[in-house]
Amino acid sequence: MPKTSGSASHTHKKEEEGVLTMQTPVSKLKGIGPKKAAALKELGAETAGDLLYILPRRYEDRRQPVRIADLKLGKDQLIEGSVVSRCFSGFRRGGKSPLVVLIQDNSGLIEIVFFSGSYITNLFKVGEMFSFFGRVSENRGQLQMVHPEFHRLHEPGDVRGILPVYPLSKGLTQNDMRRLLETAKPLMDEEDWLPEAVREEHRLADLPFALKNIHWPASERKLLEGRYRLVFDEFLTLELGLKMAKSKSGQEKHGAVIQPEAGDAFIASLPFSLTEGQMRTWKEIGRDLQSDLPMNRLVQGDVGSGKTVVAEAAMYAAVKSGYQAVMMAPTGILARQHAQTFKRDFEPLGIKTALLHGGMSAAARRELLQKLADGEIDMLIGTHAVIQPDVKFFHLGLVVTDEQHRFGVGQRKMLSSKGAAPNILVMTATPIPRTLAVILYGDQDISIIDTLPSGRKPVKTFAVSSSQRDQVYDKLKEELAVGRQAYAVAPFIEDSDQMEGMSAQRLYEEMQKRFPQFHVGLLHGGMDAEQKEQIMTDFSEKKIDLLVSTVVIEVGIDVPNATVMVIENAERFGLAQMHQLRGRVGRGSEQAFCYLIVDQETEIARRRAEIMARCSDGFQIAEDDLILRGPGELFGTRQHGLPELKIADLGRHQKVLKAAEETAEEILKDDPQLEKEENQSVREKVENMFHGDGRLEI
Ligand code: ADP
Ligand code: MG
Repeated sequence: MPKTSGSASHTHKKEEEGVLTMQTPVSKLKGIGPKKAAALKELGAETAGDLLYILPRRYEDRRQPVRIADLKLGKDQLIEGSVVSRCFSGFRRGGKSPLVVLIQDNSGLIEIVFFSGSYITNLFKVGEMFSFFGRVSENRGQLQMVHPEFHRLHEPGDVRGILPVYPLSKGLTQNDMRRLLETAKPLMDEEDWLPEAVREEHRLADLPFALKNIHWPASERKLLEGRYRLVFDEFLTLELGLKMAKSKSGQEKHGAVIQPEAGDAFIASLPFSLTEGQMRTWKEIGRDLQSDLPMNRLVQGDVGSGKTVVAEAAMYAAVKSGYQAVMMAPTGILARQHAQTFKRDFEPLGIKTALLHGGMSAAARRELLQKLADGEIDMLIGTHAVIQPDVKFFHLGLVVTDEQHRFGVGQRKMLSSKGAAPNILVMTATPIPRTLAVILYGDQDISIIDTLPSGRKPVKTFAVSSSQRDQVYDKLKEELAVGRQAYAVAPFIEDSDQMEGMSAQRLYEEMQKRFPQFHVGLLHGGMDAEQKEQIMTDFSEKKIDLLVSTVVIEVGIDVPNATVMVIENAERFGLAQMHQLRGRVGRGSEQAFCYLIVDQETEIARRRAEIMARCSDGFQIAEDDLILRGPGELFGTRQHGLPELKIADLGRHQKVLKAAEETAEEILKDDPQLEKEENQSVREKVENMFHGDGRLEI
């Protein structure tokens, strides 16, 4: 049909009239000005379609009114009754008298109070039936509800039923949200993106049903069915994306072929023998290195399990096979520490190692990069500085990233793009429950070092209240007196009005006073890289006895002579964090101690401290944490470079995840890149989830 100016202006007009589509900006919706639009954006909704996925935080069950005689003080409840009287009460507030409506049911009386209520006076006619929903209080022995939601029975706008309670941001009210969702309701009838065959096989609710029952549940059961469907959707999309990315990365063959024998020789030269877990992991890495498929392996090993030597063996083997190897660490301190280790272990063997760091002069940096490009440097160690665009390698064969959870997938990718198809080894101490790791890191092979070097004694851990602080520091003093070192960690750098709790600065001053006979150092994230490195070097050379710090020491620091870790305001730290911190001690053969000073005795703080005291296995702690508080802290999905999940919860919905994973497998078996006609809507969904942030290419 030829396009005429007439039809163009017709569609234009239609848009102006506001035909609602998924893409309609929220600002075009009735009653939404710039302020509310901004508030909605904060909740993640820019279009009408986004609104459907702002899910209620909880629901209020207002199906059955409560008898007035049975009302409980301080709770939000629904009542139904008739108007007995209405009057303006005598006492004044802001110049106006409050409106008091007296309501009765067959069990009792309650006052409904509206301050400045004159505009609604005429609504309440004596004898008419209303329902009210609000918090019940008591005043002069009389039950009251102040400013409840209300509704005349048998009229629209019912306050009864199961009502959604939405997350809000500043400028939005609960009523705004409910009204917006009503407006967006017609969109819920759009076509289901999931093919019917899949829905039937897995007995999934259809999408319109799911969405409607999420927002306005007809019953609890239907709500659960709806929620299952949305959680399933999110996991399925995630799994499809991960699996497609994996099958694609498997296609680029021909990685650097590295002979592992040199690594074996390095291991044989160590003053200790590898643990079983280290050995198994090394064998797995060796097989990958030999193959001409590029390695893509994740090594998980608890703090102190000895991941570094395994990485060293691999890097040594790479260099001996004629390649360069690079190790990327998440902090300057850790990079410096690795650089020292590598220099100590490899320079005597004729291998050139170098540290690339932010504090270098332009000239020194240029010279280093030149040598790297010419192949004169064999092993490079650094922070994310090693992935800047001007860093070029001569013949990169192996990329190791330490404490991988600190890197995004994007960063890892940039690094791997520096070699044709280098072998990739990532190491993490973040204890991810085994069940999840397999699924989360679906595109990687996994090795687990599940043994600690022998002779290690578990760190004795005690949770104490702040009244026992003195005893803790007495114990610390005993250890310092026999030549050991210690850490004391505080949650903040400096005291502030906003945050209650110990600051590193204050603790440092206190410790200096308390222990004039010892060297006390201070380390925190506000210091520049050089300062931090100096302090760490001083600590490892025992020029500092007690190191006061913020969580900057969390990752990877290795000072075997340190035997005490004190964590102040332990309630401010998550389990995973505390476990990492505790891993800084107990790295030598001496008995080590960890004290968790709990200042605020909340239930969750107490249980966390209990778990820490009882358990030293990071994986077990991770499982417990998952159950205790959901996966937020451990699985900051951003940290893992995964797309953000809005509804699905990796901790609580593991069964759904499993089902979704199997479904993804089935779909891709039949159509590996989602090219078939019937899968186009599925493909679009996957693209949407993974798009825009360059994390994964599918
Ligand atoms: P992490 O896995 O936390 O990175 P490291 O690699 O830093 O642990 O190792 C911790 C300490 O244990 C280091 O001092 C290292 O030399 C030592 N170590 C590693 N493997 C063994 C082993 N098999 N036996 C004894 N000590 C070991
Ligand atoms: Mg380490």
